[in-house]
Amino acid sequence: QEFLREMSDKDEKINSLRDMGFSEDEANMAITICVDADLSVLVDSISASQVTEVCHSRNLSDHQVTARCFDSFGGRKRARLIEESKKKRKRYGGGAQGKRPSLDGSDEESMPLPKPMVGFNLPGYRGPSMTRVLPELATGPPYFYYENVARAPKGVWAKITRFLFDIQPEFVDSLHLCAAARKRGYIHNLPTENRSPLLPLPPKTIFEAFPHYKKWWPSWDQRTHLNCLQTCMAPATVTERIQQKLSSSGNPPPQSVQKYVRHECSKWNLVWVGKDKAAPLEPHEMEYLLGFPKDHKRGVGKTQRYKSLGNSFQVDTVAYHLSVLRGMFPNGVRVLSLFTGIGGGEVALHKLGIHMRVVVSVEIGEANRQILRSWWDQTQTGTLIEIADVKSLKDDEIATYVRRFGGFDLVIGGSPCNNLAGSNRHHRDGLEGEHSSLFYDYFRILNSVKSAMANM
Ligand code: SAH
Repeated sequence: QEFLREMSDKDEKINSLRDMGFSEDEANMAITICVDADLSVLVDSISASQVTEVCHSRNLSDHQVTARCFDSFGGRKRARLIEESKKKRKRYGGGAQGKRPSLDGSDEESMPLPKPMVGFNLPGYRGPSMTRVLPELATGPPYFYYENVARAPKGVWAKITRFLFDIQPEFVDSLHLCAAARKRGYIHNLPTENRSPLLPLPPKTIFEAFPHYKKWWPSWDQRTHLNCLQTCMAPATVTERIQQKLSSSGNPPPQSVQKYVRHECSKWNLVWVGKDKAAPLEPHEMEYLLGFPKDHKRGVGKTQRYKSLGNSFQVDTVAYHLSVLRGMFPNGVRVLSLFTGIGGGEVALHKLGIHMRVVVSVEIGEANRQILRSWWDQTQTGTLIEIADVKSLKDDEIATYVRRFGGFDLVIGGSPCNNLAGSNRHHRDGLEGEHSSLFYDYFRILNSVKSAMANM
C-alpha cells in the first residue's frame, strides 16, 4: 500500500516535470536523488543541475546556525533576519534537497553538482528560460554575487546556501565558455533571463587560443581544453623530466611514456612550445584565458601574478551572469567589492560597458590593490575606495558608505578557497578553516549593507 502510494506520488511528480518541459530522464534523475522533495525543489535541482554527483554533508542544526550567527555577529536584528530566513526556507521548500537521515540520527544534506556543469544557462542557449522565485529577504537591492570553488568538502555548499537565503548555487565550469576549465559555484540574486555574453566570444579551445602551439603538439596529447589555471607553476624538474623521457624514446613514444607525459601535462597545464618541450603557461597567457586585458598585471612579480590569477574570476563567465545589470542600471552601479583580488568583477562590469559610479573595494593583498588601482586610473572615472581587511569593515563604516553613496547596487566577491580546494589537502578543513571562514564576513557585511539600506 505504502509502496503503491509512493509510486503514484512519484509518477505525478514526473508528469508535472514533463509538463514543464523537462525530459523524462531529467525528471527521473532528479526524483531518484531527491526522493521526497517538493516539486519546486525538484525543478530547482534539475535547472541548476543534471545531477550525477551527490555529496552528503552533515550540517549545523537550525538552532546551531542561529546561535552561531547570533554569537559571531551579534545584534538581535541579525538573529531575527536569520530566523525569518529559516521560516521562509521551510515555506519555500528550500534546503530540503536530498535530505536524508544519517546513521547517527542527524540530518545529512546533499548538494548535487550538475553534469555537465553549465549553470542555469550558457551563452547561445535558446531553450525555455529558467525562472526562479526568490524569498523576499533575498531579493535586491542590493544585488549580490558570491563565488567559490564548486568542489568543496562535503557540506560546505549546503551551509553557504543556508546562510545566503537558501538560494541554490549556479555551478558553472568555465570550460563551456573559454579554453580553460574552472569549476565554480555562484550564489546570486540576479535575474537569470536575458543574459548576454561578452563579445567577441573568447576562444573555446587551446588551438583557437594559441594556434602557434599546434606545430609542436604531439598527436597523442588530445587535450582540447586546459585544466583549471592554478596558483602555482610547474617546477622546472617536471618539464626537464618530460623532455628527457621523450628524447630518449622513439616516435611515437611507448604507451607508458605517453601516459606519464599526458598526466603531467594535464596536472600542470603544460603546452608544447618546442620539440619534446612542454612548458607552463606564461602569466599573460593565463590573463588572456581568464578574460583580463593584456598586461593587466604587468610590473608585478611572476609568482604573485600566478597566485592572483589562479584565484581570480573567469571574466567571461562572471560577465555573462552580470550582463543583466546593464539594462537595470543605465546610469551605472555602486559596487561593494569584497575580496577583490585583481578585480575580476570590476573588469567584467567594465567590459560589459557598465559604468561603475563607485567601487568600495576590500582586498588584503597590497600587490592586488595596486593592480586594481592602476587599472582603475587607466580606465575609470568613478570613485574607488580601497580597504585592506574585511575584518576591519564594521557596521558603522558600512552605514557611512551607504549614506554617502545612497546605497550599493551590487555586493560582489568570492572569499578565499584555501581550505576548500582539492589541491590543498593539508589544510582542507572546510568552511571553518582559517581562510575559508572569511565567507562569514561576506555574509556579515552583506547583511549589514541590507540593514543599513533598509534604514535609509
Ligand atoms: N575574485 C577575485 C579573487 C578572489 S581570491 C578576482 O577576481 O581576482 C580571494 C581574495 O581574498 C584574495 O585576493 C586574497 O588576497 C583576499 N583576502 C584574503 N583575506 C582577506 C581579508 N581578510 N580581507 C580582504 N581580502 C582578503
